[in-house]
Amino acid sequence: MAEPTPPSAHVLGQIDALPSSNRPLIVCDVDEVILHMADHFTEFLGAKELTFLSSGYRFTGNIAPIGSNAPISQEAVRQLVDAFFDEESHRQRMVEGADRALKELHSDWDILLLTNLPGVHNKPVREKLLQDFGIPYPVLTNSGPKGGAVAALAAGRPSPLIFIDDSPVNHASVNASLPSAVQIQFVADETFRAAVKPSNHIDLLTGDWSQTRDFIGGILVPD
Ligand SMILES: [Mg+2]
Repeated sequence: MAEPTPPSAHVLGQIDALPSSNRPLIVCDVDEVILHMADHFTEFLGAKELTFLSSGYRFTGNIAPIGSNAPISQEAVRQLVDAFFDEESHRQRMVEGADRALKELHSDWDILLLTNLPGVHNKPVREKLLQDFGIPYPVLTNSGPKGGAVAALAAGRPSPLIFIDDSPVNHASVNASLPSAVQIQFVADETFRAAVKPSNHIDLLTGDWSQTRDFIGGILVPD
C-alpha cells in the first residue's frame, strides 16, 4: 500500500485561496478524463518517430524509437511530456459528454479540477480551453501523487469525497491519504483502459461520462 504523502506548498497555497464551502465535493483530474491525452500523445510521439512499446498504461520505460525495443530514458520521457503540454495543450480534445455530466453533477456537488500540469505558463491555457468547452470549475495544479492534496481538500467537507483520475499511482495515493474517498478510475482511451487491472480500492473503472454521472448520482448526497 502507498504511504500517505503530504501536499506540496504550491498546491496548498491554491487550496487555501479557494472560497470556503461545506458542500460535498468531486475532485476530478483533467488529462485522459476530461481532455483526451493518450491518443493525442501517441500522434505527438509519431511525429517524433517514437511509439509506445506496449499497451501497458505507463509512459516511463514504454516509449521507444519506432523499430527499436530500447525505451528512452525517464528524463527523456519527462522532457517529452513537458514539450507535449507546451505545444499541444491548447488544442486537446474534450472527452465526449464530460461537459454535460459535470454540469448535471454540479447541482448537488462542488467540483474542483486537480491536474498534474507541468509549466505554470500552461495553467491559463488549460483554464481557457476548459472554459471554452463549458467546464468552468476551479483548476488546481499539482505535481506528484495527489493523496495529500485530496486529503487537504476533504477538510471541512461532508464524506464521501469523490475522486476521479486515470492514474493508478494517484488512486493508490488517495487511498492511503483518504481511504473514505469514492474512487473512480476513468481512462478515456479504450486500449489503455483494457490494460488496466483495477486495484481493490477502485469503486468504478470506466471511460464513459454517462456511466460516471449515473454512478455518482446513485450515491446519497452527503449532508
Ligand atoms: Mg490524468
